Amino acid sequence: KKLVILGGGESGVGTALLGKAKGYNVFLSDKGKIKEKYRDVLLNNEIEFEDEQHTESKILNADIVMKSPGIPDKVALVKQIRNAGIMVVSEIEFASNYTDATLVAITGSNGKTTTATLTHHLLKQELDVGLAGNIGDSFAKQILEKNHKNYVLEVSSFQLDDIHDFKPKIAVLTNITPDHLDRYDYKFENYIASKFRIVENQTKEDYFIYDADDEIITNWLQNNEIQSKKLPFSLTRKIEEGAYYEDKKIIITIDNNKIIMPTDNIALEGKHNVKNAMAASAVAHLLKIRKQTIRESLENFQGVEHRLEHVLKINKVQYINDSKATNVNATYFALESMNAPTVWIVGGVDKGNEYRELFQFVNEKVKAIICLGVDNKKLIEAFGNMVDVIVETQYMTEAVKIAYKLADTGDNVLLSPACASFDLFENYEDRGRQFKDAVRNL
Ligand code: ADP
Repeated sequence: KKLVILGGGESGVGTALLGKAKGYNVFLSDKGKIKEKYRDVLLNNEIEFEDEQHTESKILNADIVMKSPGIPDKVALVKQIRNAGIMVVSEIEFASNYTDATLVAITGSNGKTTTATLTHHLLKQELDVGLAGNIGDSFAKQILEKNHKNYVLEVSSFQLDDIHDFKPKIAVLTNITPDHLDRYDYKFENYIASKFRIVENQTKEDYFIYDADDEIITNWLQNNEIQSKKLPFSLTRKIEEGAYYEDKKIIITIDNNKIIMPTDNIALEGKHNVKNAMAASAVAHLLKIRKQTIRESLENFQGVEHRLEHVLKINKVQYINDSKATNVNATYFALESMNAPTVWIVGGVDKGNEYRELFQFVNEKVKAIICLGVDNKKLIEAFGNMVDVIVETQYMTEAVKIAYKLADTGDNVLLSPACASFDLFENYEDRGRQFKDAVRNL
């Protein structure tokens, strides 16, 4: 059978390797230029490929097409493929057919990477478990090379768009806020529906862990039936079956089996991270990780780079890198977690942001704002009246130098852009690294 793969990145090349090993006749096609490291893998494994073009005749005779998550449905070629009646799958769909591993799939608008990495950290103390999806080596490649007994998968809505039978034993939905709407005909309900596909193949033996404080999620659940067992978590109210937070403790009850864990010594900061910790601990409890192990692992988990990452303290000023905050909701939780007057570096490519929800925290916690990016004007209009100092620049080094001058002993300097990074940087990682370099050079 002929497997055609669109996209020669991590998931595309991983699928090519797995497909070839499973006896498919594989052809990979990428409209852009394939990176050297992936080109080498394809050449070394004698996988036929092309880049900077799509040869339709070679693509439209496929039996099955794996479309990489970055390729939108509106691309003409994708429409042609679908019109030709060819089955289109995502990488997680394709790969999950070749493993019996227990799958924990984590999705949501924010918190996927943090929750998936933390969950993996808790499980790996006692189980054979891999971490895949949007993190590190592709799921497909790991199934081929490692074949762990369990996988924690970070799953984007784009990966969920092309599932058919993908069925996680445990699904986690961290939250839903408007994001990536350009890929969903600018309809929020389409994006919500895409996120909920994570439960569509689950049965009553499976579990669905979700944020019960998120109204988008709870409204959807009121109007739709799901098969799996629901395990909500909440910061604000007691939950009988699921998890909640009270007196700085996480309380988890599953099948009348209750565990209580203090959170005083958790390294992760912020309420959103208590949510992430509840979700991850609920997964660990379900998979029978011992309470003591969960507790210790929550305490020694240091977080993920570019997510409220503590960089350095200089003259008693803490510099914090939250470059991954590419939307307003992520920045909301960053500002909320600030426990000292904050010099805030914000900006980039505005994705139709609504800044009003940040006003309260800006009033309470922010002493100066440094706007860094193409859409500074909108930021100045939104926040100009709220702080004594608001300046703008197009250079990270300059932004950090200004922050250094404005910050006093005990303050924080926070990079939490609430915007995409593509104006001045390659991606959010590049933006975060440039911030850290600039801080270290002070
Ligand atoms: P994702 O993989 O979904 O993009 P990350 O874990 O990389 O999520 O975090 C992205 C941004 O969102 C970071 O700025 C982080 O501090 C913030 N964040 C993390 N968890 C949550 C959450 N549960 N709710 C809201 N924001 C969060």
